[in-house]
Amino acid sequence: MRRPIIAGNWKMFKTLAETRAFFDAIIPEILDVDHCEIVVAPPFTALATAAVEADGTRISIASQDVFWEPQGAFTGEIAVRMLVDAGCGYAIIGHSERRQFFGETDETVEKKTRAAISGDLHAIVCVGESLAERDGGQAVDVVRRQIQEGLGKFSASELARITIAYEPVWAIGTGRTATPEIAAEMHGEIRKTIQQIHGAGAAAGIRILYGGSVKPDNIASLMQKEDIDGALVGGASLDAASFASIIRYK
Ligand code: PEP
Repeated sequence: MRRPIIAGNWKMFKTLAETRAFFDAIIPEILDVDHCEIVVAPPFTALATAAVEADGTRISIASQDVFWEPQGAFTGEIAVRMLVDAGCGYAIIGHSERRQFFGETDETVEKKTRAAISGDLHAIVCVGESLAERDGGQAVDVVRRQIQEGLGKFSASELARITIAYEPVWAIGTGRTATPEIAAEMHGEIRKTIQQIHGAGAAAGIRILYGGSVKPDNIASLMQKEDIDGALVGGASLDAASFASIIRYK
């Protein structure tokens, strides 16, 4: 059985005071939740505060990025060891905004993922096609390439420390969600790709999250699909009540 993950990506939002207020509001709402892992990814500056707030609860903390070198003269970058030290258990890697605005490639995704899982982090690796690629009929090819080139060199046992997030770029922050059918179809393709590269066991075990305008009113229909193992939530994770309602999709 794959344990679902509901993860919130705060992107470049929230100060320390706003982070504390969020945890104060959400913790009472999710105290009894046992059906999924809950992950929150604040900006770097709020990671340690979030980890203190989440201590003793079911909420784990993720970074939104990581650098692959262990330390050194890399101004502005953050190493795995620093993230673990700040209280992170997960790292989001290869988000489409990082690919689009900060030059991330399948090659950097692979290096970052290797660093993350070699340290003490579980990697949430994002893939997804643009609108032009979907309209051009290339969506499956693009996502297969991202998986092959980003994750193809990992062993099946390393894959156990990786979760994939399928996030069609045209659905991120646009209010336009992929229908559960479109999402499920791509999740099936992703699982098939993992099976071809890493074998049936790895394919059956890997969790594949959907991301792209997930809201309290569409999460349940997405989660009904067999190959959808959770969600990576952007905008709707910023509000404690709406994120709690997504977590309580059951
Ligand atoms: C995201 O940032 O990963 C995301 C899916 O954003 P949103 O939910 O706002 O579309």
